Amino acid sequence: MPRSLEDYRDIVGDEIISQIHRKAMGILGKHVVHINSTYQGGGVAEMLQSLIPLMNDIGVDTGWRILHGNPEFFSMTKSFHNALQGQDIEISDIKKRLYLQTNENFSSYTHIEHDFIIVHDPQPLPLLKFYKKQQPWIWRCHIDLSNPNPDLWEFLKTFILKYDTVIVSHENYVRNDLPVAHRLFPPAIDPLSRKNMELNELVVKKTLKAFQIPSDKPMITQISRFDKWKDPLGVIQVYKQVKEKIDCRLVLCGSMAPDDPEGWDIFHEVQNQAEKEIQAGDVLLLTTENNLLVNVLQRTSAVLIQKSIREGFGLTVTEALWKGRPVVASRIGGIPLQIENEKNGFLVDPEDVDACADHVIRILKDPQMAEAMGAAGKETVRKHFLITRLLGDYLDLIKSFLVCPNLSNGSEKCFS
Ligand code: UDP
Repeated sequence: MPRSLEDYRDIVGDEIISQIHRKAMGILGKHVVHINSTYQGGGVAEMLQSLIPLMNDIGVDTGWRILHGNPEFFSMTKSFHNALQGQDIEISDIKKRLYLQTNENFSSYTHIEHDFIIVHDPQPLPLLKFYKKQQPWIWRCHIDLSNPNPDLWEFLKTFILKYDTVIVSHENYVRNDLPVAHRLFPPAIDPLSRKNMELNELVVKKTLKAFQIPSDKPMITQISRFDKWKDPLGVIQVYKQVKEKIDCRLVLCGSMAPDDPEGWDIFHEVQNQAEKEIQAGDVLLLTTENNLLVNVLQRTSAVLIQKSIREGFGLTVTEALWKGRPVVASRIGGIPLQIENEKNGFLVDPEDVDACADHVIRILKDPQMAEAMGAAGKETVRKHFLITRLLGDYLDLIKSFLVCPNLSNGSEKCFS
């Protein structure tokens, strides 16, 4: 059943609920549409699945359109994604044609007559070219734009320049070479989703059993794709150091896309490095995609690690903080937006295995400090990174265009 805003009262408090209703005044009954390229898998779809029903619930009529494309198109846009984060790319004319053709085909059978249009990420970016623009179009980019491949960026800019505002997740992703208003919307999690909802003990026990996870020792966990930027090999090194001082178990949980050979290569490297520990049942490697499992692991771990070398925002950190668990994470990307060192978690330099291990040990030795830190982390998320805040951000933005157009240049305030 779709959730309603009232379901969040106990979590965020009546003041926030009432504030959101007030933010929606003036745009009730307006038609808004989000356009992206997938219904599930990945953070964007996850956020839209929670956000869109809430927008409708409060009276802003919001639809969701999903761009259709063939595998060739999606493998090309995946390479766009990587290149926007700095990797090399060759953008041939054939690729450009496929990119535009897919968007044009979609436009030929998709009516877009809404009052406000939000396009997510590069896949549907050129769509605007194939419509008569008669309303605000917003480009919401979820990707790290701090160091894009210059050729690709020049190509994509042709389309972005037509948009009225660009939304990014971090101030470092604001592009000075893009003369379009920017807004900053940090990502958010849904506290009522399967991945984040409260769980009773029975569900926790059953899930641990189903995945053969024993609870006889404190558990240290990193939840992340098997990806070199998430540094799973570094986590193994950290674990080995911690294990010399305190008996504990390490869980690395990273779901695996069937078409990601790199993921399996890294997985096998991890297996080699931790062969002895895996055989002893002290290191568990899990590759199932399961939101309940993630929830249970985050709730039952003594420490959550996020030892990334590069990180856009780090939703796993948000999720772990929300579970009230202590987190040791790299001082990188969006993580310092979420963790204030020594207050609601520990920040360490990404390459510093010793420091990471020391902090894990400190947490394991001092459960009281760990509890206090976890509680502070949960409050950080409650205040800044829940879906209700994101809903408010969108309402402010839509209102700034549809109710106070003179303020639509990035200003947050609207006095009408
Ligand atoms: N995730 C998951 N199962 C896994 C590993 C990761 O559901 O086995 C989820 C995780 O809970 C988070 C997202 O994938 O919601 C990863 O987001 P993050 O921003 O941490 O990293 P990204 O993978 O986008 O670089």
